[in-house]
Amino acid sequence: MDIIELQEKIREEKEKNGTLILAHTYQSPEIIDIADVTGDSYALAKAATKYQNKRVLLCGVRFMAETVKILSPEKEVVLPEPEATCPMAEQISPERVRKFKIENPDFSVVAYINTTAALKAECDVCVTSSSAIKIVSAMESKNILFIPDKNLGSFVKEKLPEKNIVLWDGYCPVHNQITADDVKKAKSEYPDALLAVHPECPKEVLPFADYIGATSGIIDFALNSDKPVIIGTEGGVYDSLILKHKDKKFYQLAKQKLICEDMKKTDIQKVYNALVGKGGENIQLDETLRLKAKVSLDNMLKYGG
Ligand code: SF4
Repeated sequence: MDIIELQEKIREEKEKNGTLILAHTYQSPEIIDIADVTGDSYALAKAATKYQNKRVLLCGVRFMAETVKILSPEKEVVLPEPEATCPMAEQISPERVRKFKIENPDFSVVAYINTTAALKAECDVCVTSSSAIKIVSAMESKNILFIPDKNLGSFVKEKLPEKNIVLWDGYCPVHNQITADDVKKAKSEYPDALLAVHPECPKEVLPFADYIGATSGIIDFALNSDKPVIIGTEGGVYDSLILKHKDKKFYQLAKQKLICEDMKKTDIQKVYNALVGKGGENIQLDETLRLKAKVSLDNMLKYGG
């Protein structure tokens, strides 16, 4: 079957078997096209709670499927490609965090949502890239351990000098490759364009940006700009923008670097296979761990995330 035929089959089948398809914005355009909901990891997990479907297919990486399961334990949550993981989410072990907490009892632990359920269970509050500053600022604790992304953490630290924020050595291997030279090159190629970047990019890149924010913020900024915009995040965002908004002009920053291989491990065939029960992994979480991990997501809401 070609892509169009597979898409048609997927649309028919998901109606028949009542499966909700969620796709992260970094997925390929043909997957985005058949999804019921698209967005960033937290938007997808929140959206799943609002649907009655008993079965959810999460097109993205493992921590995203786990986040859906944490908030919707009654649903069957399937990851079409079991090998799709986020290297950053797995970079720090829960044991390391436990050790830090024992040695530093006056610190609160803040985890970027891009973490495993086991890591979420060890932290006090989760943040997204769009809510991190607001949440850390609202926390009572002055002493904060921010895991795992040192780049997002340093962005937050710079904005909140009143906090004592300790960073760890995690990073997104995709965004972390971007250099100031990549940005200078793009700016000289497209001198009339504005630059929007994700805060997972290194510190040296951020001063060049006209906008720094989460994927959804980058999309809004690009759509509302009168000028062309250079998209400084994973290539799936640029691919969707140029497909859906042919009247606007976008450019991709460092095209060869900003591709998340894990995000691209899911293809339309795997989505179909998982939908008809011939592939994918049914995500299982230990209930004690799920409840502990949920506390950090509930606290995110409490602080206005
Ligand atoms: S782009 Fe980076 S943070 Fe996002 S899934 Fe890929 S490796 Fe993880």
